[in-house]
Amino acid sequence: MPDLPDIVQLAIPVYLAAMLAEIAIGRLRGTATYELRDTLTSLLMAVLFLAVSLGLAFFGIGVLRAIQQRWGLVDWGWSVPAFALCFVLDDLRKYWLHRVQHRCRWFWAAHVTHHSSQHYNFSTALRNPPTLLLTQIFVFRIPLALLGFPWEMIAFVAGLNSVYQFFTHTELVGRLPAPIELVLTTPSHHRVHHATNPRYLDANYAPVFIVWDRLFGTFVEESPEDPVRYGLVKNLGTFDPVRVTVHEWVAMIRDVLQPALTPAQRLGYLFGPPGWSHDGSRETTEMLRERFRNAARRG
Ligand SMILES: [Zn+2]
Ligand SMILES: [Zn+2]
Repeated sequence: MPDLPDIVQLAIPVYLAAMLAEIAIGRLRGTATYELRDTLTSLLMAVLFLAVSLGLAFFGIGVLRAIQQRWGLVDWGWSVPAFALCFVLDDLRKYWLHRVQHRCRWFWAAHVTHHSSQHYNFSTALRNPPTLLLTQIFVFRIPLALLGFPWEMIAFVAGLNSVYQFFTHTELVGRLPAPIELVLTTPSHHRVHHATNPRYLDANYAPVFIVWDRLFGTFVEESPEDPVRYGLVKNLGTFDPVRVTVHEWVAMIRDVLQPALTPAQRLGYLFGPPGWSHDGSRETTEMLRERFRNAARRG
C-alpha cells in the first residue's frame, strides 16, 4: 500500500490562505462577501465537524475494513486507474446522497446548516455541522467497500473530493471555459445549488462531476437575468452556532410530536421532503416552483 497523505489536513493552510486572498480581493474590488460573525460561525462548525469526525473515524474505518476484507468483490490493487475509478464512483454516490439530503427531511435537518449562510465564500464550504455524521456517517461508503476498495483509498478520494468542493464556494470566479463547465462542477454551478430563487431550487447536486446532474435531470444553468440569492427559503436570522446546528431537528421533533396525527403523517414529517405538511399549510420545492411559475405567467 502506498503511503497516502491526509489530504484534508494538508489543505487547512491552503484554505486559510484562500480565504484571506478572497477577503483581500473582495476589499479591492469593493465586493466584500465576508461578514465576521457569519465566518466565525462557519469556522466553528468546521472545527467541531473535524473533532467529531476524528472521534468517529476509528469505528467507521473498522467497519469498512471488515466489509472489504470479508466481502470485497474485486482486488483493485493500488494503481492509478483504481484510484480514478474509486474517485468517480465516490462522486456518484455523493451525488445521490446529496440529492437525498435535499429531498428527505431527516437528512435535510443536518445538511440545512451548510445552506444557512446568506453569504457565499470559501468559509461557507466549511459550514458543515457535526450532526451530519449522525445521519450519514460512513454507512454510505459501504457500497465502495463491497466493491473491494480499501478504506484507505476511499478516505483518500473522499479527501480530494472535499478539497475540490471547497474551491467551488466563491463568487470570484465567473464562468469557466465551456468544456470545463460541461464536465466539472464549477463555482457557477454550485452558486445555483446555494440559491433560494425558485428556478434554482434543488439543482446541481454533484460535488465534482456536473455530468451526474446533466444525466439525472437536475442540472440548472446560472442565469445573469436571475442573480443568485443565497441562504434558505426562510432564513434563520441568527449566527448562533447552536441554533444554526439544531433548529431543523427541533422543528422536526416538534412536528412529529403534534397531537392527533396518524402514524403515516408523523413519518411524513420525518422522511417526507422539506416543507411537507399534513395539512398543506407549508410549501415544498414543487409548490414554491408552481407558485413562481403562476406568478410569472400572470405578471
Ligand atoms: Zn446541498
Ligand atoms: Zn456548498
